[in-house]
Amino acid sequence: MAMKAFKAESKRLLDLMIHSIYTQKEIFLRELISNASDAIDKIYYRALTDDKLVFDKDSYHIKISADKENRLLTLTDTGIGMTQEDLENNLGVIAKSGSFAFKQENELKEDHSIIGQFGVGFYSAFMVADVVTVISRALGSDQAYKWESRGADGYTIEPCDKDTVGTQIILKIKENTEDEQYDEFLEPYRLKAIIKKYSDFIRYPIKMEQDGEEQTVNSMVPIWRKNKNELTQEDYDNFYAEKRYGFDKPIKHIHIQADGAAVYRAILFIPEKPPFDYYTKEYEKGLELYSNGVLIMNKCADLLPDYFGFVKGMVDSEDLSLNISREMLQHDRQLKLIAKNIAGKIKSQLLSLLKDEREKYEQFYESFGRQLKFGVYSDFGMNKETLQDLLLFYSSKEKKRVTLDEYVARMQEDQKYIYYASGESIDRIEKSPKTELVLDKGYEVLYLTDDIDEFALKVLMSYKDKSFKSVSDSDLGIETDAKNDEETPEESGQKELFDEMKSLLADKVKAVKASKRLKSHPVCLSTEGEVSIEMEKILQAMPNSQDVKADKVLEINVNHAVFQSLKDAYAGDKEKLALYTNLLYHQALLIEGLPIQDPVAFTNDICKVMV
Ligand code: ADP
Ligand code: MG
Repeated sequence: MAMKAFKAESKRLLDLMIHSIYTQKEIFLRELISNASDAIDKIYYRALTDDKLVFDKDSYHIKISADKENRLLTLTDTGIGMTQEDLENNLGVIAKSGSFAFKQENELKEDHSIIGQFGVGFYSAFMVADVVTVISRALGSDQAYKWESRGADGYTIEPCDKDTVGTQIILKIKENTEDEQYDEFLEPYRLKAIIKKYSDFIRYPIKMEQDGEEQTVNSMVPIWRKNKNELTQEDYDNFYAEKRYGFDKPIKHIHIQADGAAVYRAILFIPEKPPFDYYTKEYEKGLELYSNGVLIMNKCADLLPDYFGFVKGMVDSEDLSLNISREMLQHDRQLKLIAKNIAGKIKSQLLSLLKDEREKYEQFYESFGRQLKFGVYSDFGMNKETLQDLLLFYSSKEKKRVTLDEYVARMQEDQKYIYYASGESIDRIEKSPKTELVLDKGYEVLYLTDDIDEFALKVLMSYKDKSFKSVSDSDLGIETDAKNDEETPEESGQKELFDEMKSLLADKVKAVKASKRLKSHPVCLSTEGEVSIEMEKILQAMPNSQDVKADKVLEINVNHAVFQSLKDAYAGDKEKLALYTNLLYHQALLIEGLPIQDPVAFTNDICKVMV
């Protein structure tokens, strides 16, 4: 019997196939099962147009059996089979797909379920087998043929006997090597796990024999193909657990059955708790991607924007091919459309959670609010519009988290800005001297305690035409009651004192000023310009931080008794003035939680006041 060579640069292609298209060896089983399922589908489609052919669903199945002793793994299907010519054409020419041709000939466009179309899947068998034997009898033919190959060398075809229509594929599984284990592909429990993982939703039973009994391994109808009203909350929760999306109970599920521009099904979950590695580089976002019920990717990152990276779940689309690579997927138009669609759905579901189930939303926000704020900040604020209504911040008024919309809706008539104060904790912010004036005016203040908060607000810039204003800003935009622009003689006296203090502090501060905001406290630090004190702290704490500093203004409360002491010192004792100035400056640093450069000098200064 003459050995025939594969066509189409076969050796190189086969090598490529075995070494690079697939990263995991176990997927050979997925490919062979998909082919078997396609072959059964073909009989089904044939029966639609051929009166003599009856498709009785019960007689169609795929059987898998392992013979450990002889290292043989056999897949048998009751599909359409292959003629001698088919074997030549479909298995003798790499990258030729009989299934693709079938779809074209039969004008199957929408709603088909045939998976194959690339003509390479079959060869993945050579990743685990030394010899692949295909025994097939085509529908309508009495003669069966045997195709056999040891890989790149070529293949043989000869007539043989087979009682029934269909195909049997026998793999002679490779011996274990030092680096690779192949035995596992002969272990029934392992084979079952692989089938469950990739082929659970193949529509025909995949049967395996174990302990003399035959059982169906796959569950066939995937939950996402079922009608929403047939499903209970428990079904979704079970699915979440079975799929190991997380160990928590999801806060919400989103079941999408889209039939518009993008045709796909999806079940998405919003988890309750972040996985332990969520806010680290190790975390990989992504959704499971199925093509027609067959898993093609565990974590398809392109399906989710980073800011919704916490979402778990799966997408099934009919228009994707099985052996598509990651690089190809990135450019897939269909996939992009689905991703866009999904992002929109997630957003609208989060908004309705916020509206209708506030408590649950707050629970969600506790876990993933930081992610949303990062989303506002990243990509130069490109997604801020999408995300701004999903944000919550702690409110001085409500003593809980509120939305920006809620804040703006109850702003006072004379209030120009959305005020915020940042600090380490709610408690610390509440006690900060700087919030006094704004709170006294009766304005609501948002308390920011997360590193990212202030950066996110800077990127947002404004919400509903109201700009954000830090209570540390030197200009608060609040009209104090008795104020006109002309300097009183008293104020001009102050100016000299403050100028002197400024020169004593040199470039530690940009200015020393009489405070308009302080009521009971003697001193505070405010800032001019873009960088606030909290931002300075965060930027300084970053690895490779550039030396970014806030422009600080030392504000003195001229109604405080301390001010009189300053004036007295200025008039009579310049050394004392220097001492007091230093003390006040350092106190202001302490209130802000900023480090004191020279603590020893500072304590010595305090002692000087005492003796
Ligand atoms: P694809 O599935 O993308 O078409 P494959 O390399 O997996 O590519 O298979 C090549 C072709 O071989 C299929 O298109 C089909 O025509 C044929 N084929 C493979 N396995 C079977 C089978 N079990 N029964 C019938 N035909 C098959
Ligand atoms: Mg295939």
